[in-house]
Amino acid sequence: MTVHSAQILESIQYAAEIIRKSQHAVALTGAGISTPSGIPDFRSEGTGLWSRVDPMEVASLNAFRYTPEGFYEWLRPLATQIIDAEPNPAHQAFARLQAAGYFEFIITQNIDNLHQKAGSSHVLEIHGTFRTMSCTQCFEQTSSNCFIEPYIRDGQIPHCPQCGGILKPDIILYGEQLPLQTWYEAQNACQNCDLILVAGSSLEVLPVAGLPLQALDRGAHLIITNLSPTYLGARADIVLLGDVAEIIPLIAERILHD
Ligand SMILES: [Zn+2]
Repeated sequence: MTVHSAQILESIQYAAEIIRKSQHAVALTGAGISTPSGIPDFRSEGTGLWSRVDPMEVASLNAFRYTPEGFYEWLRPLATQIIDAEPNPAHQAFARLQAAGYFEFIITQNIDNLHQKAGSSHVLEIHGTFRTMSCTQCFEQTSSNCFIEPYIRDGQIPHCPQCGGILKPDIILYGEQLPLQTWYEAQNACQNCDLILVAGSSLEVLPVAGLPLQALDRGAHLIITNLSPTYLGARADIVLLGDVAEIIPLIAERILHD
């Protein structure tokens, strides 16, 4: 078990107090909440999947249109990890907090479904989801369920049951717009919250990185927990540098059991 310094424990206690007093709290989660579940931070330089290929060549909307085979081949190891991944103590802590009435919305940059697997609701997936796919020809949306297994096992590329066109997972690629409705909901949640907790996001990807600013502009509290510092550290009430899979459960414990 990790021994935490008195200062960190004090910050955890303070975070718990602010969350307990909140009426409309929002969480914003990024890749750092899923790395403890074995999902690589695929945007992170040096360690991620991007370092092995040029993302513009495989994971952009244009690349998908020209060579969907290349895209699907590149995605296969990541898709396998996503399907097999289980929620970790941070996801579970958020689900417990939501069940107790805290955190109206969880805005996530992740496409791994782990918040939902842990039992969370009102999850706004601003970078899309792997659960559904859309046809590139007739735009019919369909569940990924029956396509995932043949794809992961044999590399079979999913085709539309209606028209035979190639299906694209509803994850947001480079050069692709964020899902409009979800993005509006996320902005709305940030503009109407009294607290935003950033967990496991380095706040480097726009426009998502700007969401906490919208909350700050309305006078909301800001708590940041992440492995590395972010550009908003100076404006946060509390910054907890460390593993979110350790920190979030400790905060939840203080809120729910004290
Ligand atoms: Zn179709």
